[in-house]
Amino acid sequence: MARCPECAGTMKFDPKSSRQVCQRCGLAVSRAELDRLWDEQRSSFREDDTEREKSQRRRDYLDWWLGKKGKDKRKK
Ligand SMILES: [Zn+2]
Repeated sequence: MARCPECAGTMKFDPKSSRQVCQRCGLAVSRAELDRLWDEQRSSFREDDTEREKSQRRRDYLDWWLGKKGKDKRKK
């Protein structure tokens, strides 16, 4: 089942318009358009775990970097 690139809602195929229609926000796109949108969204739109992991890693790195930089100044 396709997911909406805008809101991650469930998309259903509407045979009348030949489009995938989002059941949550109402976005209606063709299959090709949906694929294109997903390509654009792929980098920024991830599973929660992956996103949390990514920002955690970024924070860890920042802490490490700041700690290293301000080592003999004052503790963070
Ligand atoms: Zn949607």
